[in-house]
Amino acid sequence: MDERYATAVTVADFTRNAAAVRLRIADAARRAGRSPHDVTLLPVSKTVPTDRVRVAIDSGMRMLGENKVQEALRKHGETADLDVSWSIIGHLQTNKARDVASFATEFQALDRLRVAEALDRRLRAAGRTLDVFVQVNTSAEDSKFGMPPEELPTFLEALPSYETLRVRGLMTLALLTPDDARVRECFSLLRALRDRAREDAPDLIGAGELSMGMSGDYEIAVEEGATCVRVGQAIFGARSLPDSHYWPEG
Ligand SMILES: *Cc1c(COP(=O)(O)O)cnc(C)c1O
Repeated sequence: MDERYATAVTVADFTRNAAAVRLRIADAARRAGRSPHDVTLLPVSKTVPTDRVRVAIDSGMRMLGENKVQEALRKHGETADLDVSWSIIGHLQTNKARDVASFATEFQALDRLRVAEALDRRLRAAGRTLDVFVQVNTSAEDSKFGMPPEELPTFLEALPSYETLRVRGLMTLALLTPDDARVRECFSLLRALRDRAREDAPDLIGAGELSMGMSGDYEIAVEEGATCVRVGQAIFGARSLPDSHYWPEG
């Protein structure tokens, strides 16, 4: 938790916070010689009560990220009258695949073929498709989800059999450390993996997007090539739940 992140309550709060993040994204993009338009901001609304989520949507947010399926499904129901879609950014158990297939637009944490298969089966039954990002463990930590980098090429080769899944690119969580250099290494590894995949098998990686960076490190991520940053606290305010609730330690 970080005291710098005040709780956003009003439309003006959300507009100001999102604009501040976008400004810093644009600065980071320019430092790297990139266009700010190549970076999408995905606001992450996990733990935020639905009344405040509705205000955020009123401020113009059209897609929201949630880590846990049940919470996302509940908020989807509670905002069904509004124009918003949902991205699941957290680890998925196969027994939740049907829920994801029923309402989500995007799933950013694909890291096992069993999950791909379960999603595909449910999506076909529902007559839907799903945009997916393959999650890679770039920090070599046992406690994090995502596949080891060396397994990525084989995994990408298997995905075209699941026709309802639209591969958009790769996703990662950097090491949680104040050491910026080590954070940057995680992001540059994901970019290198994307570049290699593009060279070896360009049809398998979609647009080759890179979802990386959160409130504490999104500027580094943009400098390293992020096309999507997932930002919660810097927009909604500090969370009281510790991050270990979302990334169980080993
Ligand atoms: C919560 C979460 C984020 C955003 O973290 P903040 O610190 O709130 O910006 C990004 N990615 C994933 C997978 C998350 O669960």
